[in-house]
Amino acid sequence: MDQSNLGVVVSERLARYGFGDGHPFGPDRHGAFVREFESRGLHKRARILEPRDASYDELRSFHTAEYVDLVKERSVTGQGFLDGGDTPAFRGVYDAAAVVVGATLNAAAAIMGGQCRHAIVPIAGLHHAGRNHAAGFCVFNDCGVVIELLRQQSGLKRVAYVDIDAHHGDGVFYAFEADPGVIFADLHEDGRYLYPGTGARSETGKGAAVGTKLNLPMAPGADDTAFAASWPQVIAHLEKFEPEFIILQCGADSLGGDPITHLRYSAEAHGKAARELAQLAERLGHGRVLGLGGGGYNRSNLAQAWNSVVENLL
Ligand SMILES: [Zn+2]
Repeated sequence: MDQSNLGVVVSERLARYGFGDGHPFGPDRHGAFVREFESRGLHKRARILEPRDASYDELRSFHTAEYVDLVKERSVTGQGFLDGGDTPAFRGVYDAAAVVVGATLNAAAAIMGGQCRHAIVPIAGLHHAGRNHAAGFCVFNDCGVVIELLRQQSGLKRVAYVDIDAHHGDGVFYAFEADPGVIFADLHEDGRYLYPGTGARSETGKGAAVGTKLNLPMAPGADDTAFAASWPQVIAHLEKFEPEFIILQCGADSLGGDPITHLRYSAEAHGKAARELAQLAERLGHGRVLGLGGGGYNRSNLAQAWNSVVENLL
């Protein structure tokens, strides 16, 4: 069977999701990843996947109609904000954000269809957007949409979402807080020191979902040793629930030198997370791991972290 181990979405259309040159979430983040990806020769070993536009109905599987319509409207004028003041609208923002979601859906479909065992989308993992609002540079939450659609369309019962971005994945966490089908594990800088301020250890899910969510706040300055000490809790948490699909939001803003956070991992933390989740997915008998780039505002860091994930999934 012609199956590559890893599919990678690389496309200028993905690069367009950004808030302008000079912005931390600028359109040059994609190029920074691709230059390193090619210089390591990884593009010759991976299957290159294309993005596509997510449809209105696909966006609606996670977001409210009112919110999707608001983004559509502001996309025409390019004026104003999509939230309280972090996430500005720009002309074409609807299409740029819908392509990120479509890239994530294509990558998941390539895994489910057997074209590749694992996949990664560098510009994706927009984990702050809520069902009815944007937040923290995130317009549409591709993580949330793919979690909904894997269950609605592929019939999966349990999807795991692991997040090692420096920021808490609040948009995913609160959307699925009472949903026992989403196995959630998030290592992030302690909310007392960093946006969005949520993700206390005591937040373990609600109702039928109590115990399916694991939040591990890390102290400012936490390094690879601290990461390695906490990480086994993530693997143990997932093992308990035997998820049928594993998403890794591998935000690179948890590396030392990021301009807006205070964690100090190296790219090896990201490599270790990818490697061990792939091993777990193999033990569970399906191998399905989908990496989503997430944050990361130091260009060299994101190139190192995401290519470390690529190398460990290949
Ligand atoms: Zn982040």
